[in-house]
Amino acid sequence: MQKLWEHLFNEETGLGTALTTLIYHTPYQETYRSLQHTQRWTPEQIKDYQWQQLKTLLHHAYEHVPYYKKLFNIRGITPDDVQSLHDFQQLPFLTKETVQEHTNELKATNYPTHTFEETITGGSTGFPLRFYVEKGVWYAKHLAYIKTLLERAECHAMDKSVQITGSEKPWEYRPLSRTLVLSSYHMTDQNLPIYVKKIRRLQPQYLIGYPSAITMLATYMKHNTIELKAIFCYGETIYDWQREFLEELFQCRVHGQYGHREQSVLAGTCEKSNSYHIFPDYGLVELIDRNGRQVTKDGESGEIVATGFHTGIFPFIRYKTGDIAVYSTHHCECGRNYPLLKSIEGRVQDFVVSKTNRLVPFMGVHHLVAKSTENVKECQLYQERQGEIVLRVVRRETYSEDDARRIQESFHKRFGDEFSLTLTCVDSIPRTNRGKYQFLVQKLPIHFSP
Ligand SMILES: [Zn+2]
Repeated sequence: MQKLWEHLFNEETGLGTALTTLIYHTPYQETYRSLQHTQRWTPEQIKDYQWQQLKTLLHHAYEHVPYYKKLFNIRGITPDDVQSLHDFQQLPFLTKETVQEHTNELKATNYPTHTFEETITGGSTGFPLRFYVEKGVWYAKHLAYIKTLLERAECHAMDKSVQITGSEKPWEYRPLSRTLVLSSYHMTDQNLPIYVKKIRRLQPQYLIGYPSAITMLATYMKHNTIELKAIFCYGETIYDWQREFLEELFQCRVHGQYGHREQSVLAGTCEKSNSYHIFPDYGLVELIDRNGRQVTKDGESGEIVATGFHTGIFPFIRYKTGDIAVYSTHHCECGRNYPLLKSIEGRVQDFVVSKTNRLVPFMGVHHLVAKSTENVKECQLYQERQGEIVLRVVRRETYSEDDARRIQESFHKRFGDEFSLTLTCVDSIPRTNRGKYQFLVQKLPIHFSP
């Protein structure tokens, strides 16, 4: 059943998108319609709405989610004691470690078993996180938000597009969504001319993908580009030089999108500015400084702590994302009263250097490890020699040589002979002095200039 579901509703395929919008048409349509109103809300309307959502979520979590029931009981309070946003901000953070340790207790008991869809993510930390989303519904709602973001650049879901992402096949055309998917892992000198030929043949309206991979492709295409309506970047920090380079080369806007599978925060740039506009009906975002205080000053940075409004099945309340962003108090001339982030700084570009001196963006490797085995608690990549990668692994008790073999196999399947991989077992992964998890420790000098 799970296999059939994955096949039919895979969100990475055109068929999955088409079936989701068809079968889950109501949540999709309702979310899209609601978005047309919320973008005209006043700051007071946003505040009221978010407060109502928080109250509803806390009551739901207290009544139906064992982890939160216990949390409230230990503190000797009930949701009725949370009378203000200030009270809410006294509740403890939800960390990735907590999600890992209490996965089952975080599942809401009032949802039928068949509505739970397991998902794995690495985000910007090396943690393979397992949690649950509401089958079909989450994706239908997500599509409504994505449609809204595309429309800000006068693009549409059914436009022809090129997506550059970490996929296993070097390229694949998905006719139902009219998307050409190119793999960022396979951008070799041999494949790049083929990629460009395929892009020229498709004549897409927009490109979407990791900024590092799009920049790499653009560097290759230089002076031989195509006409685009927009470029959408996600998954990594967009550097100013990348934005300038891409905008000049393609003569179109570079838009940024920020969000994750935990669905507690979603933000995107708008028609007028490069600041990230946080959707206030998607979740509540707090920025927390190194001393644990709320960031309130323009230009100050902090960790994104988010509470999702669409994740009743597995609530993320005051979830520490591990991503760093810069706060903005500006009011955008697009007229939306959404909270703004000047930039997202946390997802630092991860590049490794292959045997042939090629730079390979390494987003998605923790996902590969997580998919190969459940027995790795944490991992970290380390590189000090060209073409050689060391994977430091914190084992669970159930870890065996079989797991090591499976990781090696999936790694080789994806990266071929360009890298050799050595697995080393360690007791823990040290955090950086900012307390942040570093997925890749890169000791080689990386020179990446277009
Ligand atoms: Zn704006």
